[in-house]
Amino acid sequence: MGGPTGWNLDNSFARLPDTLFAAAQPARFRAPRVSILNRRLAESLGLSCGDAADAATAAVFSGQALPAGAEPIAQAYAGHQYGHFTMLGDGRAILLGEQLSPSGGRFDIQLKGAGRTMFSRNGDGLAALGPMLREYIISEAMHALGIPTTRSLAVVTTGETVYRNTPLAGAVLTRVAASHIRVGTFEYAARRDPDTLRSLADHAIARHYPEISADGPERYREFLIAVIDRQAALIARWQHVGFVHGVMNTDNMAISGESIDYGPCAFMDAYDPATVFSSIDAHGRYAYGNQPAIAQWNLARFAETLLTLLDPDADTAIAIATDAIRGFSAAFERAWLSGMRAKLGLETEEPGDGELVAELLAWMHAARADWTNTFRDLGSMIEPITAERAANDWYRQPAFAAWQARWLERLGREGRPQDITAARMAAVNPWVIPRNHRVEEALAAATGEGSFGLNAAETDPLAATHRLLAVLASPYQPDAAAAAYAEPPPPTTSCYRTFCGT
Ligand code: AMP
Ligand code: MG
Repeated sequence: MGGPTGWNLDNSFARLPDTLFAAAQPARFRAPRVSILNRRLAESLGLSCGDAADAATAAVFSGQALPAGAEPIAQAYAGHQYGHFTMLGDGRAILLGEQLSPSGGRFDIQLKGAGRTMFSRNGDGLAALGPMLREYIISEAMHALGIPTTRSLAVVTTGETVYRNTPLAGAVLTRVAASHIRVGTFEYAARRDPDTLRSLADHAIARHYPEISADGPERYREFLIAVIDRQAALIARWQHVGFVHGVMNTDNMAISGESIDYGPCAFMDAYDPATVFSSIDAHGRYAYGNQPAIAQWNLARFAETLLTLLDPDADTAIAIATDAIRGFSAAFERAWLSGMRAKLGLETEEPGDGELVAELLAWMHAARADWTNTFRDLGSMIEPITAERAANDWYRQPAFAAWQARWLERLGREGRPQDITAARMAAVNPWVIPRNHRVEEALAAATGEGSFGLNAAETDPLAATHRLLAVLASPYQPDAAAAAYAEPPPPTTSCYRTFCGT
């Protein structure tokens, strides 16, 4: 016996019209073993997990034993993938239920890679260890950065082989989310029937936007605007830390405003708006610099699904939706510029701030300056170039020095002591992000695949992952002993590629 205790599952999604989901049973796996377990997160959910080596823990987090109250389902959804509409659904994910946490939260507990469902089409419903650990690392890093995101509770290897281009170790990720309701869930519901759509909308409002009155006459318009605002704030946060999602299809955009579905995502090193990592994003649709425009496009698809709820008159409904979608640009700009000001240590607003930021970005782009480290370095450049800094040729480029002078003048008008500004900048500019070569190094050791930095002396394959996770847990508190994690990749690995369909 043993295994996690403290389950308090409810199944509010499963009480919605049954067109929105299908019952699902996790596949049988021969030899599940816990690869990694997020005890902190478990605790915050009210779960106590006992020994990670315990077979009962592995059984639960691979779907072999269901927690009390679980009602396993696969959710139906549709989506625009690279601009094209498709019917989808959870093809390799099973929702166990919603854990009611001690602090009053409600969190989806989902097993990703737990086998085939009604929506699997030709897929095997399975996942490989590398991509599941990758999602674990990146989602936990995003959380530590203070960015709304789904979380990762556990990765369990199944003891089975998953066949992709090569045979790989199978694994199940236990994902925790405010919900898995996506723009694509609405696209699906809107194509079913009015009752399904309205039930889904009312459910999402109550669950994620409780500030909206459940019987207010304008509730669906308020809902649309609230989702738009949350997405604008989310994408601004991605831009601030150089996160490239990689596959911003409408089925990968959560109504809750959390980042979701970590596939071919990666963090940018050198600043370039055209940065793309995903091997299948040949035209750069989901490039770093396109993320705001794509979010707005996705939200337009969302607004279309709500038309019949917005107003009985089609023209009025379209006018309401169009107005709301236009509002995205201003909401994004506001959130983005406010965050960029903070990254530069500015607290007041001046009309020239946008230009000041744009000029820095132009220099960074031309110089291929590292996104993360440049902002971090600025914190120590509040004084005109010091002897130490002067040793660094990089920042002696005339274009940078000219910008720096303007920035210092602007900071001077705020009249704060330099150390306070520096501390505030350090609190918003991370010193470490999940650098791609570090993530790959950890995954290579964990899976025994690839050729990155394998350390023969190390017996625990997860050691590098644990070290990386420990560093990523405190992105705003520099750790001198881990300074190597802040370094950009060596030039040979700078052409990083990520893969989808894993
Ligand atoms: P994703 O690229 O992870 O966002 O997935 C896109 C769609 O493909 C979703 O409907 C997934 O459920 C489905 N899918 C991805 N991988 C598999 C798989 N191995 N087996 C079945 N369905 C899958
Ligand atoms: Mg997806």
